[in-house]
Amino acid sequence: MAAVVMDGKGLAAKLKETVRLQVERMERRPGLAVVLVGDDPAALSYEAGKRKDCQQCGIYYDAFRLPENTSQAELMDVIGILNGRAEIDGILLLLPLPRHLDGRAAVLAIRPDKDVDCVHPVNMGDLALGMESFRPCTPAGVMRLLEEYRIDPAGKRCVVVGRSNIVGKPQAMLLLQKHGTVTICHTRTPDLEAECRRADILVSAAGRPGLITGDMVKEGAVVIDVSINRDAQGRLRGDVDYAAAAERAAYITPVPGGTGPVTRAVLMENTLAAALRHGKG
Ligand code: NAD
Repeated sequence: MAAVVMDGKGLAAKLKETVRLQVERMERRPGLAVVLVGDDPAALSYEAGKRKDCQQCGIYYDAFRLPENTSQAELMDVIGILNGRAEIDGILLLLPLPRHLDGRAAVLAIRPDKDVDCVHPVNMGDLALGMESFRPCTPAGVMRLLEEYRIDPAGKRCVVVGRSNIVGKPQAMLLLQKHGTVTICHTRTPDLEAECRRADILVSAAGRPGLITGDMVKEGAVVIDVSINRDAQGRLRGDVDYAAAAERAAYITPVPGGTGPVTRAVLMENTLAAALRHGKG
């Protein structure tokens, strides 16, 4: 049985249109600022994507492209200014920062009510406690995809491959909130194959192309590939051997066109939510 391909691009377009319609009715529009240090081409293209998304949704957008040799004090100044600017509701600091900068200090400096990617410990803590907070864009996007296809994690065996602070850990917490029985796998997991084969919902975020082979997928599983890797030919690939996994899975996300666009749409939703919290309407 061939799997249903989960259309992240289509879902993202729908979510952004909903944001756009809400923003259209607001007297003061939401605002997002992206802070980027250095000139990494991937980060620059990521930043350009945010600009486009904001334009589509009617959200005010400002980008701060700081040179590679920016000092900690200069970076903290920029964050401080953005914290104080009323037209900015969300601050997205592109990570990782160049090595000479203290990323933790920079993250701690972001006002938690403007932390639209949920990197501040206050928001991560709320997430862990199951309290209302910003939800990190990528894992929240995965949950949106599951909702869209009416896949309920309750009672399901969920396996998350990867334990990063930005994807794996918060993903596990969100699945747990929805009553999944969650296992987190990582580089020290002794038998990744066996763990994956037990998964009703398998979310892979290892950043290792080809890590998840077809025989690691249970018949009828939901396979969500978060990873975005470039192969030797420059093409985008996930962790999952897509063709082989699609033969066994009931649902599968493509790369590209799966989780990536939904992540971007959730950032727009979070920026709107921040603006509403700031009393804009
Ligand atoms: P990371 O490198 O910080 O974390 C990778 C995790 O995978 C680690 O916890 C590691 O233990 C685990 N891992 C690596 N190799 C493994 C292996 N062989 N077996 C088991 N576990 C293994 O990466 P990240 O920031 O979490 O990102 C993961 C991937 O997701 C990357 O490809 C990244 O480009 C992609 N990503 C996609 C989106 C999106 O919008 N879809 C957003 C963020 C990141």
